[in-house]
Amino acid sequence: MERSFITVVIPVYNEEIQICENINVIRKCLAETGMEFMILLVDDGSTDDTWLKLKMLSKEASCIKALRLSRNFGKEAALCAGLEAAEGDCCIIMDADLQHPPTLIPEMIRLWRDEGYEVIEGVKALRGNESMIKKVGANSFYKILSKLSGFNMQQASDFKLLDKKVVLAWRSMHERGTFFRGMSAWVGYNRISIPFNVGIRTNGVSKWSVFNLCTLAVKAITSFSSFPLYIITFMGVFFLAGALVLGIQTLYMKLMGIALNGFTTVILLLLIIGSCLMISLGVIGTYIARIYEEVKCRPRYIVADEIKSNKDCLLSEVESIGFRPKEKASSHIE
Ligand code: UDP
Ligand code: MG
Repeated sequence: MERSFITVVIPVYNEEIQICENINVIRKCLAETGMEFMILLVDDGSTDDTWLKLKMLSKEASCIKALRLSRNFGKEAALCAGLEAAEGDCCIIMDADLQHPPTLIPEMIRLWRDEGYEVIEGVKALRGNESMIKKVGANSFYKILSKLSGFNMQQASDFKLLDKKVVLAWRSMHERGTFFRGMSAWVGYNRISIPFNVGIRTNGVSKWSVFNLCTLAVKAITSFSSFPLYIITFMGVFFLAGALVLGIQTLYMKLMGIALNGFTTVILLLLIIGSCLMISLGVIGTYIARIYEEVKCRPRYIVADEIKSNKDCLLSEVESIGFRPKEKASSHIE
């Protein structure tokens, strides 16, 4: 059987209280697979002692590599940094708080290695101890996004195994505003879902506020669908039809000499059309903002520091397998 090498990408933000124990749990599960692996931790500009902990971890274990972003760029950017620096034959993406059960890793690897699947997606069977607002919000968001984009992303999560081919395809997508779940669905390939129950966060609290989640939802929808722009046209047609009916009625009343009656209708029309115009401008504005972000062509993230994996021999072997990032990690600024 061919020898394989796995990179496990883990974004980390202010996780000092739990990162060491959690990484050790993940390492154990990886070791059980009997494969060579590297754990690539991306510190997303943590303000606590997370980076120090990562340094300690890398001293204990030679399989650990870490990148430190120059500030908090957000989980999506941290995932980009990880995927661009990943090496080996496949890449597993998971959270640092054990909410993505590492015990599923051997099964994911089996599906990839023995059954030839190229994308193994963890889908949330139970969403864990999330608040009602988040649960309802996430369900409606994924329903709308799946309808608009044409990709089934119901209960999707960032817990995935991607084959080397898929990571390379993902790297060919150059947009600044990334939405990992959507982009990994868009690339296609032979995929299978495995359900998992979202565990309880081992320590600390979720870093996603409702506002952050709403921003991500808007970014995701505008990245994957232009439908909201067309809704404006549909609304225009709908109101034109209404305007024709009301126009005829107004003229009729005028001719019959009972024209004063229409006052309520005028107020209602002003309110409805006014708010529709504002919403429409907002939708167009959102897309323009997205275009503005893209044309600026700023890097998705900036790497401020790096801890290399100690196993030089291992890395040189991986290089021969051929899955190096296009540029060396020292020049991540595109
Ligand atoms: N995370 C990150 N940058 C951020 C927020 C979160 O890298 O700005 C990481 C975090 O350390 C964790 C993962 O993303 O490994 C998921 O975050 P969290 O558990 O807070 O989110 P939730 O589980 O509520 O979706
Ligand atoms: Mg979490």
